[in-house]
Amino acid sequence: MREKSLLSEAKQIQLATDLIKLGARLQVLEANTELSRERLVRLYKEIKGVSPPKGMLPYSEDWFTSWQPNVHSSLFINIYNFIIKHTNIYPIDAIIKSYKLYLEHIEINRLQRVLSLTRAWTLVRFLESKVLRVIPCTKCKGNFIVHSLEIHSNHVCGLCNIPSRAGKTKKKVA
Ligand SMILES: [Zn+2]
Repeated sequence: MREKSLLSEAKQIQLATDLIKLGARLQVLEANTELSRERLVRLYKEIKGVSPPKGMLPYSEDWFTSWQPNVHSSLFINIYNFIIKHTNIYPIDAIIKSYKLYLEHIEINRLQRVLSLTRAWTLVRFLESKVLRVIPCTKCKGNFIVHSLEIHSNHVCGLCNIPSRAGKTKKKVA
């Protein structure tokens, strides 16, 4: 038991380090490792050079269904589901892998980083608890995130049906 915990401690520090580097909040580290809060705060400071932000995670499920976040979140969850389906790695490792691939994708396409690692992790939790789910767009057949409780028999995604507000300047509103 003691030897096992030593090995797993090294693994947990590595995991926490990877998560911190990708921008995870303290709550994500606490939920995915058994390291004490004090040690996580120390590790965070060592890597980031600043204390971790305090307070609750402000994220509600509605964020994931607004237009631009939905496109980014859906991209991430498609990568995540592919990795989960085709490998045997732990969900948290799949989140890290998918998030790195998401970052690569937006870098190549020169897009803005809309989805944070903490939000990506929160998204997986919302899907596990069935607050949100993934359904195909009837036009492009891509998979997109929707509220579980709403009826989506003819779902058309945000890319096939770009809202008129998206991308318009404030000038026009005024
Ligand atoms: Zn579509």
